[in-house]
Amino acid sequence: MSFRIRSKDLAARTGTLETKSGVFQTPHMFPVIDPNRPQSTRALLKGTDSEAIMTNAYLLRRGQTRPLKLELHKYLGFKRPIATDSGAYQILEFGEVAVSPKEIVQYQEEINSDIAVILDVPTGFRTSLQRAKWTVDETIRRADEALESISRKDILWVGPVQGGVHLLEVERSAREMGKRDFAIYALGSPTELMETQHFDILVDMIVAAKKALPISKPLHLFGAGHPATFPFLVALGCDLFDSAAYALYAKQGKYFTPEGTLKMDEMEELPCNCPTCRGNTANSIRDLSLEEKEMLLSRHNLYVCISELRKIREMIRTGRLWEMLEMRSHAHPAFKRCFERLAFHTEFLERYNPAVKLHGIFYYGRSTDPRPEIQRYSTKLQMAVEPSAKWLVLLPSGWRRPFHQDPGLDPVVRELREMEGVSIVFYSLAYGPVPLELDEAYPIPHTDIYDPGSSDDYVRSGIKVAEYVKKTDPKQILLVQGTGPLGKHIETKLRENELSGKLKIGTLREAVGLIATGTLVTI
Ligand SMILES: [Zn+2]
Repeated sequence: MSFRIRSKDLAARTGTLETKSGVFQTPHMFPVIDPNRPQSTRALLKGTDSEAIMTNAYLLRRGQTRPLKLELHKYLGFKRPIATDSGAYQILEFGEVAVSPKEIVQYQEEINSDIAVILDVPTGFRTSLQRAKWTVDETIRRADEALESISRKDILWVGPVQGGVHLLEVERSAREMGKRDFAIYALGSPTELMETQHFDILVDMIVAAKKALPISKPLHLFGAGHPATFPFLVALGCDLFDSAAYALYAKQGKYFTPEGTLKMDEMEELPCNCPTCRGNTANSIRDLSLEEKEMLLSRHNLYVCISELRKIREMIRTGRLWEMLEMRSHAHPAFKRCFERLAFHTEFLERYNPAVKLHGIFYYGRSTDPRPEIQRYSTKLQMAVEPSAKWLVLLPSGWRRPFHQDPGLDPVVRELREMEGVSIVFYSLAYGPVPLELDEAYPIPHTDIYDPGSSDDYVRSGIKVAEYVKKTDPKQILLVQGTGPLGKHIETKLRENELSGKLKIGTLREAVGLIATGTLVTI
């Protein structure tokens, strides 16, 4: 196996990909290098710690004035893994390329690529369903043809998935390619969607592909190269990217940050400490020649991509990727849309999300609700509904975790748990009802809850509690009101659910009284 998964979070994973020229960490972005300017590669990569790069085999072949034996690593002056693209993107740009699928497979073998792509037919963005179907069929046909002509098994071959915005076609393409033995699968046609900020559609495309592909293989997303998009794309299960955006943006004087793009012309200070930015100011870079400026900016942009992926990998390892998404969703309205669409696919994310993580979770209200841990808890709760108790005692949750260890509640809980026919359930803003039995289950005691004080959040929690109570069908309900407003909202929801007849409201002191007089057990 060339791909080893080390840790997971949401549908993301960290891992390593082994090639014949070395191993590198994933998620990874291959900086795309111009094959016809090999002399600039070393200068460009200086100090960026690029572990693996990509270049275009088609353009390289076309740029060669006379056919000569060329070894890619020597040619580019880069000893580590080099991936090559096949010219499919040029099909999208120019309609056709002057090379056959078989020729480009042979050429990539000749130049000693480490990771190579077969010549597929990209679907593109504004494509009819009929055309999309044809690109999928033709890509599959070419995949079969390519697989037959491949002679080097030490190269990791990439099987492209097409279909564009036609999700059923993406799924069909992924299912068909998944049956064929490629080391890596790649999803095509995202560039235009990203340029036009249609991230929500891109999210659906990735989910459609991911669902139908073998999960043990890496997924490459062609042409994704803005660091601000990485956390979202990685969370959906993309392991690899390739892009020349770092250089194309630099050409336009654009400066990457993890949250978005700044314009060099408007800047004074450089909010980055990379080897390029250190010791420079926006002015000192502006004064340079066009070529030098472009080189410095490219290097900075690349550095931001690489350090951002480093951060993402760390977030995956500690199980905190969702928190990163919540933060980054505020960087731009398009990211907010992207995040909301991703949250819509919570069931998909939940399937891959580990059951227990190194780190607890932060609850920020509505935006955290779709988080797989919270969703998983709801499902677990629905399945764990106890048969009807005589008394169901609803206790407020405090800051102390687990809830039953709250110094104020502890003596009452001790008494209650000795009684027969009494169910103890805490109510919390993030989880709604938390039966005593689940009070210590991950991630409940490991959740930091922010109470936004909005009635909207209380109402949603109240609904969860009322639904649970209705399902457990107790003979009597004792609702102990806490100091906050949540208890009141729960009362309202219980009454709306026609549970008033069974309901008794009290303070903690009154609950103690009910216990002392034995009222709680005699109905
Ligand atoms: Zn920098």
